[in-house]
Amino acid sequence: MDGRDVVNGGISYWWAREGLPAPREPLAGDTRADVCVVGGGYTGLWTAYYLKRALPYLDVAVLERSFCGYGASGRNGGWLYNGIAGRERYARLHGKDAAVRLQRAMNETVAEVVRATEAEGIDADLVRGGVLEVATTPAQAGRLRAFHAAELAYGESDRELYGARGTAARIRVAGAVASTWTPHGARLQPAKLVRGLAAKAEEIGVRVYESTPVTEIRPQHAVTPYGTVRAPYVLRCTEGFTAGLKGQRRTWLPMNSSMIVTEPLPAGFWEQAGWEGRETLGDFAHAYLYAQRTADDRIALGGRGVPYRFGSRTDNDGRTRASTVAELRELLVKLFPQLAGARVAHAWSGVLGVPRDWCATVCLDRSTGLGWAGGYVGSGVATSNLAARTLRDLVRQDSGQGGPTELTALPWVDHRVRKWEPEPLRWLGVHGMYAAYRAADRTESRTYAAGTARLARWADRVAGR
Ligand SMILES: Cc1cc2nc3c(=O)[nH]c(=O)nc-3n(C[C@H](O)[C@H](O)[C@H](O)COP(=O)(O)OP(=O)(O)OC[C@H]3O[C@@H](n4cnc5c(N)ncnc54)[C@H](O)[C@@H]3O)c2cc1C
Repeated sequence: MDGRDVVNGGISYWWAREGLPAPREPLAGDTRADVCVVGGGYTGLWTAYYLKRALPYLDVAVLERSFCGYGASGRNGGWLYNGIAGRERYARLHGKDAAVRLQRAMNETVAEVVRATEAEGIDADLVRGGVLEVATTPAQAGRLRAFHAAELAYGESDRELYGARGTAARIRVAGAVASTWTPHGARLQPAKLVRGLAAKAEEIGVRVYESTPVTEIRPQHAVTPYGTVRAPYVLRCTEGFTAGLKGQRRTWLPMNSSMIVTEPLPAGFWEQAGWEGRETLGDFAHAYLYAQRTADDRIALGGRGVPYRFGSRTDNDGRTRASTVAELRELLVKLFPQLAGARVAHAWSGVLGVPRDWCATVCLDRSTGLGWAGGYVGSGVATSNLAARTLRDLVRQDSGQGGPTELTALPWVDHRVRKWEPEPLRWLGVHGMYAAYRAADRTESRTYAAGTARLARWADRVAGR
């Protein structure tokens, strides 16, 4: 495959395709609001949207340091799916029934995003084709079967298990021996969703300020260089960038994920590959990949490149190392060897937020009015919507405009966890973990052993899995 002329960075292919949005005005001095949302990604925008839809008289202000969709929400793999980081831990802490309720809420969230985007006329190239995850080695197949059984036990009776032939009937992935498919997933164009959401929020009366970095959040205050917003509720929705806020350096670790997209692929390729259902596609490697067939018939594929930068630094425009682009290209050709000569058109990266225990959370501290949601690890496209509706319910309840709801009773609400270790332990731990995962993947591919490599079990313990 030809690596020349790859567009590198530029935020993401999704934004390059759409064209960067016209900037909104920054905050123009001190102001007051009923709710101040910090961060204009899916979490912040869905939260503002649902609050305003529920309580139209609320004055809701969103402060975004760059432009809405600058972060992971404008860069991700476009897997809208029902996975949530931390479910197993929530089952251990709160009992299986509570975790089953959380899983059910996630299944419903996929349907809710489909419903809300349709109802609001947001075109995000969304196709509800479900999620297909494949195994290409005996060890992967073992993990796949265990995962499939676990999902059934969490109530997913509509999930299907396929052998090699059933897998090929959906997508012909080289060497795939098994797969598991869930209908609770959809493919979408991430930047189109976040752009549509920002426009809709503004249309219904949310104040959205861009180029407005919040330097400090304290009770009832969001401080920016352009003025301070005073509000009874200040909600932090900054995910992978959270470490940049005063006092939050070790709260969530910014983890990188990188992606490539091919040129549009010819009809002949699609005839061979199938993929007519537009399922999102993943695998069971430890350093797993995620892929989608885009609306313009390309393959967008992602995985972890350089997972973490020393001192919790985040990138800016998504530039991606040549070695990462080459690794992702290798993965693509392994899945579809007939693409050995196809061209990679664009490569980019983004950051996601990882809490110390790898559990997503949504919280509202009643004594201060400070709230936050995130730590979704790699599955925030749907989870951010569930978080937003939960923040809405928590604010309503706290302000006496509503009571407890099914969402406020879910086990991830108000979950607290300790901070990450100081450097260099953070860097060493994360790099050691991913080196172990990569080595385990190589061993499993080389030996065709049936069991998961020991190194990966060690890394699972570091990752809190
Ligand atoms: C490459 C990649 C691929 C991914 N693929 C998938 C996928 O396929 N499926 C899936 O479920 N999840 C995926 N994820 C994760 C998912 O994209 C995120 O979990 C989700 O977008 C998080 O949304 P968010 O609004 O919480 O955070 P973000 O989208 O990161 O938004 C945070 C916003 O806050 C702003 N901000 C930060 N600091 C400040 C500040 N101090 N003041 C003001 N504003 C600030 C940022 O500019 C940003 O716009 C992926 C992530 C990446 C990076």
